[in-house]
Amino acid sequence: MDHEQGGPPADVRPPEVVQHWIGGAATPGGSARRADVFDPATGEVARQVVLAEPSDVEAAVAAAAAAFPAWRDTSLTRRTQVLFRFRELLNARAPELAAIITAEHGKVLSDAAGEVARGQEVVEFACGMPHLLKGAFTENASTSVDVHALRQPLGVAAIISPFNFPAMVPMWFFPIAVAAGNAVVLKPSEKDPSASLWLAQLWKEAGLPDGVFNVLQGDKVAVDGLLTHPDVASVSFVGSTPIARYVYETGTAHGKRVQALGGAKNHMVVLPDADLDLAADAAVNAGFGSAGERCMAISAVVAVGGTGDELVSRIADRAGKIRTGDGRRGCDMGPLVTRAHRDKVASYVDAAERDGASVVVDGRQVSPDADGEGFFLGPTLLDRVPTTSSAYTDEIFGPVLLVVREDTYTAAVDLVNANPYGNGVAIFTNDGGAARRFTHEIQVGMVGVNVPVPVPMAYYSFGGWKSSLFGDTHAHGTEGVHFFTRGKVVTSRWSDPSHAGMDLGFPTND
Ligand code: NAD
Repeated sequence: MDHEQGGPPADVRPPEVVQHWIGGAATPGGSARRADVFDPATGEVARQVVLAEPSDVEAAVAAAAAAFPAWRDTSLTRRTQVLFRFRELLNARAPELAAIITAEHGKVLSDAAGEVARGQEVVEFACGMPHLLKGAFTENASTSVDVHALRQPLGVAAIISPFNFPAMVPMWFFPIAVAAGNAVVLKPSEKDPSASLWLAQLWKEAGLPDGVFNVLQGDKVAVDGLLTHPDVASVSFVGSTPIARYVYETGTAHGKRVQALGGAKNHMVVLPDADLDLAADAAVNAGFGSAGERCMAISAVVAVGGTGDELVSRIADRAGKIRTGDGRRGCDMGPLVTRAHRDKVASYVDAAERDGASVVVDGRQVSPDADGEGFFLGPTLLDRVPTTSSAYTDEIFGPVLLVVREDTYTAAVDLVNANPYGNGVAIFTNDGGAARRFTHEIQVGMVGVNVPVPVPMAYYSFGGWKSSLFGDTHAHGTEGVHFFTRGKVVTSRWSDPSHAGMDLGFPTND
């Protein structure tokens, strides 16, 4: 496990009240509503964030709509130059952003730095937009008739993001949206809003015209305003499944293009021929990394054919060595994002115990390396969890790893495929044929073979199946480019200077 030291440099501490960013400047907007933003490691209120009223939604969308035509008509060369500058600035100042993430989310600094790096990969992908937007051309499709296809930006793109990746998840979308010529309104999570403002300032330094990238702080009022606003063309949402479903249904009912990524329950299937040390390392890293607050975290380990006892013992051994505490102190695992969330996660451990699971490692007893009353729950390992227990059926989103046991490969696959979620899954085996069969028949969008967190590279697309994604299009990669643009096909005739005469029949080709 990677350790890094140090807190946020004083000059990058977020302001006392985190504001909107509209038309190229921070603004408090017109709302008196505020939400507390915590330092999860100490439990203290660190600052507040403004919560938008409909008039603030109006202002943000108006700024984006006003900036869109000129940005759309800015040459690809110039647009891409802004993307390159943004990349350079982010490379130079990534530690500042990581520190802001740790201060409000709680994840350890090395993990926050990893989040920034994965977001940066999408910026780098979007730097290739001139190539990605190349269309098609057919000369002489019919006599003297040429056909070409192009893709154009949509207009105002709304991005609504969750608390668990305050930088990376917005960056799954906005580099591509901006590079393709759209204007953006980002509505970050109100739990850790400061990263979005820092990114907005970076865009300004990179030379992005005012109004092309806006940040609207808020809650359901802001989301509903964006989903129903006539000038919003598309909505990219990431969050829990019930809200994702709501966003998809409301947004599409209001004529918007919507991609809504939801929750997860990721399984890791361990076959008897697997390297059990590799599998135990993977289960611990993927189950407890970021305190389990990742949509690609492993939640359930499926031990197949008698591997259970040995696997549980090796996972327990590793989990017992994890140091939980303030993410700025070089610990392995930080706190959960809020007290309410910490208590909800702990309640799943209580429920599993009541339902007959054995608590092999109990994170409820943790003594964290931190000052104050932070929102800590230590790594927790539950064995023989009944699949009827809420700990198995619900997304927990915390440092709780469940082990369920199945006798056969087929039973393990059936278990995974019966789950309503389909975000990520992993198989651990040394049998290439079994792995190949698994990748073919598993009903999940992102699959790892001896890789526990199979997050696709930026040039592939990220997205789950079933209740983990509503809409047709996954995030980033070519699907992302497709989402933020729409196709147009142009048929042109530049014939010899002669008049072909009138013909009211349907055009056919010759
Ligand atoms: P959340 O659903 O509570 O919030 C997501 C966004 O929706 C936030 O911006 C929030 O302000 C807004 N929101 C909350 N309640 C709303 C409501 N009633 N109406 C309208 N908008 C509302 O999710 P979260 O707790 O911030 O994030 C964790 C969830 O996100 C987990 O379920 C996790 O699996 C999921 N997630 C999924 C992916 C993925 O790629 N599939 C990635 C990251 C996180």
